[in-house]
Amino acid sequence: MKSMTAIICSTLIISLAFAQQHGIINNSESPHVKLKSINMGDCIWTEGFWADKFKVCEESMVPYMGSLLTGDTGHALNNFKIAAGLKEGEHKGMHWHDGDFYKWLEASMYVYAQNGDEKILEEVDEYIAIIAKAQEEDGYLQTQTQLRDHIDRYENRRYHEMYNTGHLLTSACIHHRISGQTNFLDIAVKHADLLYTIFMPETKHYGRFGFNQTQIMGLVELYRTTGDSKYLELAERFINNRGKYRVEHNETTQGYPIGDMVQERTPLRQADEAVGHAVLALYYYAGAADVYAETGEKALIDALDRLWENVTGKKMYVTGAVGQAHYGASTNRDMIQEGFIDAYMMPNITAYNETCANVCNSMFSFHMLGIHGESKYADIMELVLYNSALSGISLEGKDYFYANPLRMIHDTRDYHAHANVTESPEREPYLNCFCCPPNLVRTIAKVSGWAYSLSKNGVAVNLYGGNRLDTKLLDGSMIRLTQETQYPWKGAVKITIKESKKAPFAMMLGIPGWVKGATILVNGKDVGVEAIPGTFATIERQWKKGDIVALDMPMNITLVEGHPRIEEVRNQVAIKRGPIVYCIESPDLPENTEILDVYLPARAKLDAQYRPEFMGGLTTIGGNVLLRKDKKEGMYRMMTKPEWKTVKTTFVPYYAWCNRGQSEMTVWMPIVWQ
Ligand SMILES: [Zn+2]
Repeated sequence: MKSMTAIICSTLIISLAFAQQHGIINNSESPHVKLKSINMGDCIWTEGFWADKFKVCEESMVPYMGSLLTGDTGHALNNFKIAAGLKEGEHKGMHWHDGDFYKWLEASMYVYAQNGDEKILEEVDEYIAIIAKAQEEDGYLQTQTQLRDHIDRYENRRYHEMYNTGHLLTSACIHHRISGQTNFLDIAVKHADLLYTIFMPETKHYGRFGFNQTQIMGLVELYRTTGDSKYLELAERFINNRGKYRVEHNETTQGYPIGDMVQERTPLRQADEAVGHAVLALYYYAGAADVYAETGEKALIDALDRLWENVTGKKMYVTGAVGQAHYGASTNRDMIQEGFIDAYMMPNITAYNETCANVCNSMFSFHMLGIHGESKYADIMELVLYNSALSGISLEGKDYFYANPLRMIHDTRDYHAHANVTESPEREPYLNCFCCPPNLVRTIAKVSGWAYSLSKNGVAVNLYGGNRLDTKLLDGSMIRLTQETQYPWKGAVKITIKESKKAPFAMMLGIPGWVKGATILVNGKDVGVEAIPGTFATIERQWKKGDIVALDMPMNITLVEGHPRIEEVRNQVAIKRGPIVYCIESPDLPENTEILDVYLPARAKLDAQYRPEFMGGLTTIGGNVLLRKDKKEGMYRMMTKPEWKTVKTTFVPYYAWCNRGQSEMTVWMPIVWQ
């Protein structure tokens, strides 16, 4: 089998001499993709926001997380060691803890792709050797069942075997793409081959077992890596099985909610509403997008288009966060957890918004960006990254939020009463349910791989940040350029061509949907290309070394209101500047101010100021707010004319909240027309 894989791989490499096969998703040969991935490591952050974040990621987030997961705080490596017979003990941690470790390995590889530090690869390889020893002869690898005598393999889907499988396959493909080695990939292939023998035959017993759906993405990447179509076939089978069987508990589903919670009530191709657990849903949709990228099946992409519109148009917070409720019900009245509820039902204090769900929202959009080649998908990636993704981790990179509400009021919820303390008034240094931290850290580590894509004859700029791009267009010609910018604090972007082919090609600049009045100049001249918000502005011409593209996006402070059907934000506004959503937090208010007493004058004069020394360097917004002085008593009372006190305050980016101790915070503020 190994030698067969090697033959297929080398054949692929010959036929794809020019295509970029080392991207985050390897869509180089995918027939139904318009924008292809660049190789990891081809874009390197050089200055500004993402360079700073990557530095924290490289120096703090990844190593610190490694110390947790390979030590005794987390249990991931210990579990593998015990399964490998290298250590005595019992399994600890959640059923999906193996998957958390694979995500951290993936994050490590993204960092290695960018800094080339061989120590990272050596350490990762050391752990892969342990994982290989833990794998059973036939390919099975799940420490949560291997180390527990009372659980049989593939006995019940609630043991999350598919989740671990998905992350194993994805992480192994990334390791192979970046290192060129097969030590991790061999484990993945052996494991996926076992999966094929068990789940490819259609049986009623395993028909509903494909939960949670992370394995679909992993299988498609394995197909892309090895060229073996059986993995694609199996990925498709996992989609086709959902919604095919009667939704009632059977022996494989006991102990975990069924139906809409796990997206099995409605077959995907008929779905028009995002339902259930938000993380499962978005992994599922991203995986299905990968299957479409290979098969081109219209019914599949039509459904994904509807679901993307439903998520981003009716169930998403202003921060790009998704999954409104910890507990609730779908519109079909199935019980759901950590997921989607009704359209426009957007509570703030109790918003769940699991960091994983937010990250997966941006990931689903990245997969859709490739397929459709439209910049509206990059808008969602940007919105999530700058707001509801980064809010999940502290500025120093060592403390984590699992839930990301838009308003925090103390002493109103007993956070510790919730299982696993997934909702918390402040970031925690370790979460027993550790799915979110490595998911977020691997995302921060790989943003440079999302920043550009390759079009048929050109390059697309999806995300802005100071960087150096050194890659090849799809025809194999070299393209080298630099991007200089202080985005998102300033809207000026300067792109300089350092090397390119002589023949014309296109540079596509993503113009975010929030932009008003952007201008594009090439070598100081208007070239007649309009910057239309929410689209790619395409400049096609003969480029030469030294050409400069200047994109200027005015960074205006705007007040954002919600659709009138969002009851929770009626007559309230959020402050936004560029892609950054702001909040007001108690450290910036007079002592003992209750956040619910803060109102914003509708005509407030707001000023932005970049503060290099404040919280790692960021832009704050200054202005007046009104504090309501009259007492609030009783649940309802007769309306009286409010008494106001005006105070000058500062608004900080939402992602940076709770970095100055526990605080109260709100994104939405009621407005007062005076
Ligand atoms: Zn999570």
